[in-house]
Amino acid sequence: MQKILEVNNLAVSFDTYAGEVQAVRGVTFHLNSQETLAIVGESGSGKSVTVQTIMKLLPNPPARIKNGTINYNGKELTKLTDKQMERIRGKEISMIFQDPMTSLNPTMKVGDQIIEGIKKHEKINQSDAVARALEMLTMVGIPSPKENMARYPHQFSGGMRQRVMIAIALACNSNVLLADEPTTALDVTMQAQILRLMNDLKDNLGTAIVLITHDMGVVAQMADRIAVMYGGKIVETGTAEDIFYNPQHPYTWGLLQSMPSHSKPRGGRLSVIPGTPPDMLTPPKGCAFAARCLYCMNICKEVDPELTLIVGEHQSACWLQDPSAPKVDRPKLDHAARQLGGM
Ligand code: SF4
Repeated sequence: MQKILEVNNLAVSFDTYAGEVQAVRGVTFHLNSQETLAIVGESGSGKSVTVQTIMKLLPNPPARIKNGTINYNGKELTKLTDKQMERIRGKEISMIFQDPMTSLNPTMKVGDQIIEGIKKHEKINQSDAVARALEMLTMVGIPSPKENMARYPHQFSGGMRQRVMIAIALACNSNVLLADEPTTALDVTMQAQILRLMNDLKDNLGTAIVLITHDMGVVAQMADRIAVMYGGKIVETGTAEDIFYNPQHPYTWGLLQSMPSHSKPRGGRLSVIPGTPPDMLTPPKGCAFAARCLYCMNICKEVDPELTLIVGEHQSACWLQDPSAPKVDRPKLDHAARQLGGM
């Protein structure tokens, strides 16, 4: 498969009155064409900052790219001017957000918003743009698309608004779709429909997707490959099978343990990872997960572990991978593995 997007050693900080918030600290990953890469982690892990940096959406100041490269189809995005980036944003790389109400213009008809996006990037006459907008609304499953073109965002349900956002994002046949928690605000039925739609787009249009989420259930349904982020770094990465069948990092174990299980008694409590994420104003010296990790050793608090290869593409950044580390029993995660691909 061809690599369409490559992020190398990306570091992004925010300069605040309180000091430098090190939101992303040396992140490296790639996206192949026609695949879904899920970036997963709790709030504050740096996943949204990473994709917003790819799109150059973060204001500078306070955001600042400290280090790293972002290569899209041979173009180095960090070097592009705002004007050059505008030609890529929405045309070649599109983004959908958690809350479509904040991204859609409430004073503009839905059809006009799609048409505006198409005309911004393509030399196309009005009637062809209208036809394309209708086609996109039909493709994302909006009923009576002609009538709905003339409605405003507030006249749509949350799921319908998200479909409109996807229609706008894909109206110019983007190669890459960055989806930041696209289903978090939706009920489970709508969530399943939107996820199925995104999978269809990948299969039928060849769109490569970066899916940002904290929900391992969504990851299980969507991801070809997974990058687990914690404390501004990728702490484990591999294929979906690697992560669900053979997870190696204690943080990944915690995420998988927190997935609901059919075998757990009804009304029972879900597992949670105790503690809170680190303060990125003063990131810990060693492993960022040390304060919450049941397996923490002395070295973990002193030296930050590097990603080490396990097998194939599977890598984990944990001192438990060191040959001299004690052998520990992984928690039972069969319920999580059973959900892989269960759409
Ligand atoms: Fe836990 Fe140490 Fe591994 Fe960090 S490096 S996840 S503290 S065992």
